[in-house]
Amino acid sequence: MDTHPAVVISNRAKKRLKGKHPWIFSNEIAEKQDLPAGEIVEIRDDEGHRIATGYFNPHTLIAVRILSYHQEFDLRKRIADALEFRKQHYDTQVYRWVYGESDGLPGLIVDRYSQTLVVQILTAGMEKFRNEIIENLVELGSPDRILFRNDSSYRSLEGLSQGVEWVYGSPLNQEVIELDSLKFEVNYTEGQKTGFFLDQQTNRRRLCKYAHGERMLDVFSYSGGWSIYGAQAGLREITAVDSSADALKSAARNAELNHFTLNCIEQDAFQFLRQAYSSNERYDVIVLDPPAFCKSKRQLVEAVRGYREINLRAMKLLNRDGLLFTCSCSQPVTPELFVDVLRQAAADSGRTFRLLELLLHPLDHPVLLHFPESLYLKCAILQVSSL
Ligand code: SAH
Repeated sequence: MDTHPAVVISNRAKKRLKGKHPWIFSNEIAEKQDLPAGEIVEIRDDEGHRIATGYFNPHTLIAVRILSYHQEFDLRKRIADALEFRKQHYDTQVYRWVYGESDGLPGLIVDRYSQTLVVQILTAGMEKFRNEIIENLVELGSPDRILFRNDSSYRSLEGLSQGVEWVYGSPLNQEVIELDSLKFEVNYTEGQKTGFFLDQQTNRRRLCKYAHGERMLDVFSYSGGWSIYGAQAGLREITAVDSSADALKSAARNAELNHFTLNCIEQDAFQFLRQAYSSNERYDVIVLDPPAFCKSKRQLVEAVRGYREINLRAMKLLNRDGLLFTCSCSQPVTPELFVDVLRQAAADSGRTFRLLELLLHPLDHPVLLHFPESLYLKCAILQVSSL
């Protein structure tokens, strides 16, 4: 085994790490280290016993991300295992191939759009493996091209530069992909995140199971993922609302690719929902899929207020038997808290609802039971009841 500098952790951290949690916080390091960001380190307890291998960053709240508890960290094996897991569960080649810690690769995201791979390296530790990552993705996935979408602001917290760069193959800025016999144009270089929100794939399909009626409202639509599934489910009059003109342009384009017309409204969602009620608009299906309202627990109170407001508004806009697909991708909002917020909103709306399903993210974004932070997406399907 290679030898690496040792980082000694507190007893509290040691207890937590027994459960294989993959993070060590800066206040859990017993002996301060003068090491550069991204350095591979051995985690030791105060008696000198080796606990794990990880990488270190002296500037971030998460000081160490664990790479391996047992054997030497093997990047290639991790990437190969992650691919194997997707192959077991997916017939398509469109999925998140690597989801950070959930695949034992902290700081690395790889979304696969068939022959195009879109990668995010988010930490100084993972950045060190940059060339190895490219090599292994090429060997294991035989893609035509690889794009690094390293423009996340998260990178600056890690002391890394931001940028978007084709690192392999022939660049292709946008491409039409097919999912469930539907077409989506994904803009790899300029779209949000890696171009498309794959984490809602299984949830969007539930529209086909439950949707009825004519009128659908897709709030925070981005490129219209939910709207397109709504059209497939037989809804005829679909309105998409987003504050971004680019997002709506791409939603309209996706509607066109799937042979229907989308009514696009560029407006703040909160404002739109308020106005829609006073102008007597009513819908059979409403989707609320906002961006994360909070990233840390400190912003929780305000986030809850936001969720409560949009859900209350949407609940009042539903027709009899109407359906609400309501989502939260804020990691600090637990499923229990989210349901509780929905309960409060329902009480304020004066209506009652059945909770048909409470969904999470799909298998290509694996949730680790011992790593609660890997669970972020909640999607509740509610139906107006007459009780
Ligand atoms: N539902 C989308 C993903 C939504 S991402 C899908 O299925 O792909 C969140 C979207 O909310 C982004 O497109 C962003 O432009 C939009 N957004 C953020 N704040 C908003 C606001 N206050 N009002 C309306 N849209 C907003």
